[in-house]
Amino acid sequence: MYIDIHSHIIPGVDDGARDEAMSLKMLRIAHDCGTRHIIATPHYFYGNTRYVFADIIEKCACLNDLAANAGIDMTIHPGCEVFITLELAEMYEQGSIGTLAGSSCMLVEFPMMSIPPYIDNVLYDLQLKGITPIIAHPECNAEIQQNPGLMESYIERGILSQVNSGSITGIFGMKARRTVMRIIKEGWVHFVASDAHSDTSRDPDLKNAAAIIEKKFGSKMREDLFAKNALKYLAISSGS
Ligand code: FE
Repeated sequence: MYIDIHSHIIPGVDDGARDEAMSLKMLRIAHDCGTRHIIATPHYFYGNTRYVFADIIEKCACLNDLAANAGIDMTIHPGCEVFITLELAEMYEQGSIGTLAGSSCMLVEFPMMSIPPYIDNVLYDLQLKGITPIIAHPECNAEIQQNPGLMESYIERGILSQVNSGSITGIFGMKARRTVMRIIKEGWVHFVASDAHSDTSRDPDLKNAAAIIEKKFGSKMREDLFAKNALKYLAISSGS
């Protein structure tokens, strides 16, 4: 059983699923590979996103009904992927953004090319509010690709990290693949998730990435990264 903590599966809110039909196709792909819990994490860009977190909770409820009516055994949990800006803690207090599946963890996205100096303060402010940041796909950030050792200081501070299945299978190129393998090997990664955007090129199928991780690092690492750490850190009940 897999738990996919990063997906753009809610229809019509961001650059993920276009409509309900595509969401359902994505849910079937996820189910077929063994995923039973999926966290919907639409993008949130300060000043550029119209939803508030209550909308995501409501849309998740609709998607759960849709899945149940289609006979797909899957629980869809609310979450979001927040682009890191100075206003992050304030947005959380206002209810614009929320944590993953009712946990104390929040999925935070860095810029692609750099790590701006304000990031450390923003992450620290979140931690002061009792929130554990999860860095979304650090292996895709150009500075971390150049210096994967940067991850160590985040992990030492109690920050978690999530890598993309597509980085492991190689769809994001050699740099992302090399970086993802290095940071997994070092023990600086807690979750592998799909970051699925559609039912085609970036789909929610985790099985190829899981097979690669098992072959390279063994079955314990596969279980930790694809399910057990989600049970541990996000307190998702495997029975629900
Ligand atoms: Fe994403």
